[in-house]
Amino acid sequence: DIGIDPGADWFEIERPDLPSLDPAGHKYSRGLVHCLAGQMPGAIVLAATAAAKSGAGYVRVSTSLPISGLPSSVVQSGGADLQDERIGCILVGPGLGDVPPVLTLALTAPKPIVIDADGIGLVGDPERLHGHDVILTPHEGEFGKLFGKLEGSKAERALEAARRSQSVVVYKGPDTLVAAPDGRLGFAPPAPAWLATAGTGDVLAGMIAAMRARGLEAFDAACAGVWLHGRAAEAAGPHMIADDLLEAIPSVL
Ligand code: AMP
Ligand code: MG
Repeated sequence: DIGIDPGADWFEIERPDLPSLDPAGHKYSRGLVHCLAGQMPGAIVLAATAAAKSGAGYVRVSTSLPISGLPSSVVQSGGADLQDERIGCILVGPGLGDVPPVLTLALTAPKPIVIDADGIGLVGDPERLHGHDVILTPHEGEFGKLFGKLEGSKAERALEAARRSQSVVVYKGPDTLVAAPDGRLGFAPPAPAWLATAGTGDVLAGMIAAMRARGLEAFDAACAGVWLHGRAAEAAGPHMIADDLLEAIPSVL
């Protein structure tokens, strides 16, 4: 029982078709992810590293805090130039804390955005996202903060949230779903329960941002990230922590 009309456009998420490398490409053409950090740097380091390992050619982090542990990424202090033509996806939310202006800044840029974690609660009204190109990645609590209590099965709630926000919604948990405003619904293949550990959601957000920056459209990017996340967890094994997921990404890809 999937909890929706069997005629609906739903399917199980499978191994994605990823764009092949352009032999004449450069780091920017492989996809630039721009991460906006907030109050807790650890989460954005996980997300940014996940984006880089998931094939974004360039990952930038803007922050007002000292950040360490990002050797191949560029950490920018102070103002972020989000008008940069080369940005393929903005990522905001992991480790954000209660800093509403950072979300507002992300929404001023005419770019695809992944909004995760604290960023989701800061949206306030789902209609604020209309006209933007957004992927939301809420767990149950974050989902409730933005959408309130919706009726129906998890599948119906995911579709309703996607419709209200006009965004792709990755509704996380033991039974992660990806819903699009046009009614597409992807069911993640079962993921190991050992994913329930701190930081794994930040890694997922980075994976999805990389897939978006690599050129997949929002729904496909979300599905690709969810697929990669589950397979990396299987590869990392039952005693993994979020950092081990990062190590597993290259072998899965
Ligand atoms: P977060 O809540 O943001 O830390 O994200 C946790 C991640 O772990 C999400 O990708 C969830 O879908 C996943 N997850 C949490 N609990 C389970 C579970 N019991 N089985 C499989 N995946 C889970
Ligand atoms: Mg999270």
